[in-house]
Amino acid sequence: MEIAGPDDDPVHPRSGPFPFPPHLVSRSDAACIAARPDIWLPVACARANGGRRAGCCTNGVCDLCPVDSKFTVLNGIDAFVRDNVRLVSGTEVRAVSAEAGTATGVMLREADGTERSVRAGLVAVAANAIGNAAILLRSGLTSPALGRYLHEQVSLEMIVDVGAPNYFGGTSITGHCYGFYDGPHRATAGAVLLENYNAPNELRTDRGRWTERLKLKLIAEDLPQADNRVTLGEDGDAVITWIGHSDYAYAGIERAEAGLADVFPFPLEGVVSKHFSETEAHIQGTHRMGADAGTSVTDGYLRCHEVDGLFALGAGAYPTSSAANPTLTLSALSLRAARSV
Ligand SMILES: Cc1cc2nc3c(=O)[nH]c(=O)nc-3n(C[C@H](O)[C@H](O)[C@H](O)COP(=O)(O)OP(=O)(O)OC[C@H]3O[C@@H](n4cnc5c(N)ncnc54)[C@H](O)[C@@H]3O)c2cc1C
Repeated sequence: MEIAGPDDDPVHPRSGPFPFPPHLVSRSDAACIAARPDIWLPVACARANGGRRAGCCTNGVCDLCPVDSKFTVLNGIDAFVRDNVRLVSGTEVRAVSAEAGTATGVMLREADGTERSVRAGLVAVAANAIGNAAILLRSGLTSPALGRYLHEQVSLEMIVDVGAPNYFGGTSITGHCYGFYDGPHRATAGAVLLENYNAPNELRTDRGRWTERLKLKLIAEDLPQADNRVTLGEDGDAVITWIGHSDYAYAGIERAEAGLADVFPFPLEGVVSKHFSETEAHIQGTHRMGADAGTSVTDGYLRCHEVDGLFALGAGAYPTSSAANPTLTLSALSLRAARSV
């Protein structure tokens, strides 16, 4: 994935350096990091700053950008090419087959509706927390936790006018603030990660103060709830029941919003706008890992308790939410699972 990130990060100790250095931070992030290096950090991310992909051009629209700097499996698939690896597109995994408690293969459905089976000595499903839950439910797994605890973070987007210049860093988000992250408050209110956006930028109309504006996102951990879940409809496809986020998550947002002035080294002059995001697009839960087969679906190596030789990879394994972006952790867990074979 060719991650660009800092080596000297006091919040996340690492076993080794990231492959590439962090992006140049925005001017507001530079001021924050200089004033509070204990809580403000350059962001580690999969938008290139060296490596095989072109460097990020900071236009803030990665899904449209022809530079294609951000890692996706589409621009990274060649890293996985081996003689014995074959990518089969237009084919859906419907279920995992098993004999005597051991995975023996998968049932496939082609784009034209044809169904066929494939035998395998080992099966790893990685169809995200919604797709994995549907496959495992169709496979007849009966764990009480399967499909339950679907969750993601709550996030509040804010635009705030400030008394300091902003922007011009090397990628769309260059600074993260951990000032509301861990601590005794988590007994009653969720941890919050504060993201300071660099692009696409929001300009102020006051002459000479065009960049003196922040675009922030407050991202709160949620308490996974059993009634937020994936079940199967009559056609065997996933049906999602969503009863909402916990009060704990909203309490975290409220706490962080009230304390915003404490984590910036320049004056906050006024909130221009704010709204809750429709989604963080972080699909988590549904096949949570744990030591107890009665309350979890996989063990810590993402091996299903109920079926030998079956892994369920991805953020579906998360038993708790955290305020963090999920993808580097779910990728690390997949590498850890692979090493257990
Ligand atoms: C707009 C957006 C922005 C995001 N930004 C960030 C970010 O900044 N940082 C971060 O950490 N995360 C971010 N995420 C989350 C990140 O994309 C996910 O955490 C990550 O993609 C999960 O990887 P995965 O391989 O487990 O699942 P996915 O990427 O969802 O891949 C699962 C694949 O399985 C396929 N599939 C599903 N069902 C079946 C089936 N039955 N048979 C065969 N194939 C199947 C799907 O088509 C898909 O290709 C973002 C997500 C979105 C949507």
